[in-house]
Amino acid sequence: MCRHLAYLGAAVPVASLLYDAPHSLEHQSYAPADMRAGGTVNVDGYGVGWFPGPVRYRRAGTLWSDANLRQLASAESTAFLAAVRSATTGMPVSDAACAPFTDGTWLFSHNGRVDGWPHTAAGLAKTLDMTDLLTMDAPTDSALLWTVLRRRLETGKDPAGALAELVREVADAAPRSRLNFLLTNGKVLAGTTWTHALWVLQKGQGVTIASERLDDDPGWREIPDRHVVTADPSTVEVRPI
Ligand code: GLN
Repeated sequence: MCRHLAYLGAAVPVASLLYDAPHSLEHQSYAPADMRAGGTVNVDGYGVGWFPGPVRYRRAGTLWSDANLRQLASAESTAFLAAVRSATTGMPVSDAACAPFTDGTWLFSHNGRVDGWPHTAAGLAKTLDMTDLLTMDAPTDSALLWTVLRRRLETGKDPAGALAELVREVADAAPRSRLNFLLTNGKVLAGTTWTHALWVLQKGQGVTIASERLDDDPGWREIPDRHVVTADPSTVEVRPI
């Protein structure tokens, strides 16, 4: 399934995690180390959003063949979120189906799937109005989850609480779903583990959360399954969902 990562802290080039790290996101796109539930590679699209901004760029296709992004990624950033996609069977492959999804200052990514899509998501969809549904980025589980979440964040809900609530709702309706989320507004990172792995590294003035460790730094800590994490460069808080 997809691989994703987010960074927050002192400004670093986006390329440092996208391309330069030994097990960069680019490397994870064709040689992921911990794919679960069927996928083998992440070649259906990719995207990155970074602050100041957020500026968001996403494309269908393979990360390694995009010379334009390689050049853009020399930009220095204090917070960014990036993902490579292995489309769930039956879901469209298009630029707009790729994470990160964005609204205002938020960037969001989903690694996993809603089991029994679309029928099991009907309850969630009913919480939205028709305009939300008609302006969804793509007819995918991830885009629907984002459309629901963005409305809740608008009401000032705390990001980790909103993520955990969404996981519980989806898992109640579709228990075999896989729901690893990443979310940032450039000031805090939040994420969930629900079946897929997620790791966190606090180092110097920055914190990184990623599906797979980007290098062999002994500081990487695995976030246990079924937890929600909130992180900034000085504090990492992990709670059960
Ligand atoms: N279900 C999502 C999609 O198809 C995410 C896929 C994944 O995590 N591999 O876009």
